[in-house]
Amino acid sequence: MKLYKYTDLSEQNIEELCLRQLADDARIAESVKEIIAQVKAEGDQALRSYALQFDKVNLEQLFIEKEEIGKIASTIPADAKSAIDTAYANIKKFHAAQLYPEAKVETMPGVSCWRESRAIERVGLYIPGGTAVLPSTFLMLATPATLAGCQEIVVCSPPQKDGKTNCYLAYCAQLLGIEKIYLAGGAQAIAAMAFGTATVPKVYKIFGPGNRYVTQAKQQVLASGITAIDMPAGPSEVLVFADETANPAFVASDLLAQAEHGTDSQAILVSTSETLITEALSQIEIQLNDLPRKDIAAQAIENSYAVLVADKTQAMAFSNAYAPEHLILATDTFQELIPKIINAGSVFLGNLTPESAGDYASGTNHTLPTSGFAKAYSGVSIDSFIKKITFQQISPEGLKAIGPTVEILAAAEGLQAHKNAITIRLKSSDGY
Ligand code: NAD
Repeated sequence: MKLYKYTDLSEQNIEELCLRQLADDARIAESVKEIIAQVKAEGDQALRSYALQFDKVNLEQLFIEKEEIGKIASTIPADAKSAIDTAYANIKKFHAAQLYPEAKVETMPGVSCWRESRAIERVGLYIPGGTAVLPSTFLMLATPATLAGCQEIVVCSPPQKDGKTNCYLAYCAQLLGIEKIYLAGGAQAIAAMAFGTATVPKVYKIFGPGNRYVTQAKQQVLASGITAIDMPAGPSEVLVFADETANPAFVASDLLAQAEHGTDSQAILVSTSETLITEALSQIEIQLNDLPRKDIAAQAIENSYAVLVADKTQAMAFSNAYAPEHLILATDTFQELIPKIINAGSVFLGNLTPESAGDYASGTNHTLPTSGFAKAYSGVSIDSFIKKITFQQISPEGLKAIGPTVEILAAAEGLQAHKNAITIRLKSSDGY
């Protein structure tokens, strides 16, 4: 891990440090383009042949249904079932609180305006399942989708070696009342949900993380104007701010939790204490050895860096410039820093609040903007699954109040028909 001193960094240095490695790669983009074209042209047949090519399974049926989901779900170990139940209850509780009606506003006497939420009717959820199957992502996406009231929730996940899905995903499906899991992975799953096939329904918005093929496919279907996506996503990242009140072993564990995601993950340490940095780095060496994914984590740590800052103002300036997906404030004085956070996906406060809690079970969503997109995007929430429709209603009194304003503005823009739509009503006796 490289070490920088904030005061030695120019504005340009900071800008360069905050740039993420772009996951865009011409070869992947080209092969995704080909996969999308194949799925568009050949539908289910293409899904079957890609399942054979990439997942090494010969699929007769491209989905599993309720009865089989139930059978597979019944094999889940009791402790995993109970952990999923707890995580689900917390995620549901947190997201349910985001459902609230908005107030009606009378902008002028007799002119009422308001917004109502409507769920997106058809959504597609991609649950990664290549190197690891992720039931946590299933909960994070399907819980807000069901709470929002989406009518059709299409779930795609790569087939496992037995041509089915595993017990964790099957149990999540059962818990959430999802009766079908489509056995498609990678770019082909995204293409299937964007364009539809004989088996996989077309959706209006696609959600979910995934590898570079999945991410690239989401960008390509978005660019083609065929469907919406949740957000631009890249490799996962954390920025830990730690001061002298932090525990170096805890800090190291948080950095490594991020690093084990993938070699392109970033784990950034920002600290006011040189001693803390030194101790955290030696803790990383110690803890790394016990990790099954130590090669991946070691490489990610190698690509990451620490920044020594003079004070908390510098720390927050750097953090806001970096706009981390996850921000951990490993300090007893986190309270005073909260108002200074401008750009971050999700924030973890104090020395007893690791990112892992939010990744799995505390209740907040783990699908978050990466690569600096936290400057402009929020993570997945109920809002991601709904549209807000505006309404207005004007009474006779309201028409008199607002009419002349609209007439003058319409005339100024030379839009006579717009003006007439008011004038004709003001002159009419209907409703008076
Ligand atoms: P995945 O489900 O994303 O991808 C597996 C699929 O990739 C396969 O089914 C196959 O169809 C396709 N594929 C594999 N090799 C291919 C090739 N050569 N050409 C074309 N397609 C190919 O599962 P994964 O690979 O394990 O990746 C999961 C990713 O999701 C990881 O990168 C992880 O970091 C990321 N993730 C991110 C978050 C987040 O919130 N940011 C959360 C969970 C997972």
